[in-house]
Amino acid sequence: MVNRRYARKDKLIKEERHDTYRSRVKFLDGTFCPECDALYKGGRWVWGSIVTGEIETVCPACRRIKDRYPAGYIRIKGSFFRENREEITNLIRNIEDKEKSSRPLQRIMDISEEKGSTVVTTTGIHIARRIGDALYNSYQGELDMNYEEGQKRIRVNWER
Ligand SMILES: [Zn+2]
Repeated sequence: MVNRRYARKDKLIKEERHDTYRSRVKFLDGTFCPECDALYKGGRWVWGSIVTGEIETVCPACRRIKDRYPAGYIRIKGSFFRENREEITNLIRNIEDKEKSSRPLQRIMDISEEKGSTVVTTTGIHIARRIGDALYNSYQGELDMNYEEGQKRIRVNWER
């Protein structure tokens, strides 16, 4: 039995949450994230050294990690993947290293097993697309990518 009051409350919480990621939050120059030390400078998040007196705010990537609210889902399956799991996982990790070094908000949240496939979740859309493209460019197979919520979320499926 569904309790309507709770169902409604749940929905409100989800919408509110959704808004925090959706709206273009204005950060002040010199804001830094206490979780990952990323710094907001010149209109974007960068890795930099923190100077005292800067403003502390959790960055959007750390907020997604805390809330377990990914921007990208990559579902990977197939016998070729199972046979080459280690190599393919390394490729994915290398892409993360490369992306993250210049874009602090593009990170892998988690790599987990789910009903016969491996699911990689990410804090950003861009890195999810980069991983999908790299899988396809390196190993072909079948790739599809779908945006959701007006391009605020992406689902990538790769199978080989
Ligand atoms: Zn952070």
